[in-house]
Amino acid sequence: MDTLARSLADTGLPHPLLVDAARAAIAEGDPEDVEERARRHVHAAARAMLQPVVNTTGVLLHTNLGRAPLAVAADAAFTNLELDLSSGRRGSRHAHAAALLARLCDAEDAIVVNNGASAVLLVLAALATGRGAAVSRGELVEIGGGFRVPEVMEQSGAKLVEVGTTNRTRRADFASAVENPANDTALVLKVHQSNYRIVGFTEHVAVTEMASLDVPVVADIGSGLIDAACPWLNDGPPAWLAGEPAARQTLADGAALVTFSGDKLFGGPQAGIIAGRADLVNQCARHPLARALRPGSLVLSALQQVALAYLRRDGQAIEFWRMASLATADLESRAQVVVSESGVGEVAQMASVPGGGTLPGTEIDSCGVVRDGDHTAALRAGTPPVIARVSDGRTWLDLRTVVPDDDQHVIAALKALG
Ligand SMILES: *Cc1c(COP(=O)(O)O)cnc(C)c1O
Repeated sequence: MDTLARSLADTGLPHPLLVDAARAAIAEGDPEDVEERARRHVHAAARAMLQPVVNTTGVLLHTNLGRAPLAVAADAAFTNLELDLSSGRRGSRHAHAAALLARLCDAEDAIVVNNGASAVLLVLAALATGRGAAVSRGELVEIGGGFRVPEVMEQSGAKLVEVGTTNRTRRADFASAVENPANDTALVLKVHQSNYRIVGFTEHVAVTEMASLDVPVVADIGSGLIDAACPWLNDGPPAWLAGEPAARQTLADGAALVTFSGDKLFGGPQAGIIAGRADLVNQCARHPLARALRPGSLVLSALQQVALAYLRRDGQAIEFWRMASLATADLESRAQVVVSESGVGEVAQMASVPGGGTLPGTEIDSCGVVRDGDHTAALRAGTPPVIARVSDGRTWLDLRTVVPDDDQHVIAALKALG
């Protein structure tokens, strides 16, 4: 087995993994072609590892592909994660990225946790354990990946107070829930429906209306659009953003806290942000769960980079926004080069989507390459893997979600199809 493992050394994987592959090949019991089968096990192990892929799906925030595209290259270094450089004393890991995020959405304070789900969990646990949290029945949603509002509520120890009906909830419904002493309502929660819509005979209560109730309004806006005016884009907010709630405006409308993900429309690393009133953010920061849900310096420094780009109003430095705002004509020129250099497929108009459970039904005009037949498995098998989309029996490669430097990989992958 050891000899077999050593014969696989050229694959570059560490010896213990080669031993596992050798053991698996020998265990198959057939002495024929044992090295070839061992190589297949090595290959499978290498494919299972986290690695860069080329996203030609046109889904900008693709949950299977890590949501927002992010460039992080960090040298080994210590950081002032919890050191106050001016006093030399212990500092707070909430002093860097979180402070910039608060500045960005004009909040008194902010804190960063591991993801959007943990932001909601922490707020409910810190502000409403053993008490009531009132939510419209129309917002008791499942966002995806197992995030169900009633279940998160239960885990937090807060008592769910259901308000209104599935399709219609009014301010008066919230008012009577808050006034009923049996509910002991600590807060009202507004949950953005994110990936689904109720249409027809409907009525929702806006944050501005909820703000005049006697308890704090917590708004889980989900996607992390920072400012509805998009001052980081030269042309202002794109049409496809219409109706998406933004952190800054939701706080200005009277929400005491907003929660959102770092890796959706914010365009940063996986993280959850809680921003708003300083006393409430502080209560969250002091709760024991905050320690369990805190991110490390890699995430905080990536978040800090993105926050600085927003403060500079430099949307081109935020990969998600750079891709989202590419002109279709530029994509078309790139598609022509891909087709002529690979000799495969043809240039075609197509539609990208924001993805990530945001803006359902929204499409962004795009351009790329299409070829008859389903070639997704072959494209995925290359290095780097190229992830494409099939519909109507054709394979679609949308260039909006491809970093321009990766066009060469798309060309090579198409060429390999022959
Ligand atoms: C996406 C989303 C969440 C969950 O956020 P994660 O970062 O995926 O944990 C929670 N609430 C809303 C409204 C969302 O859109």
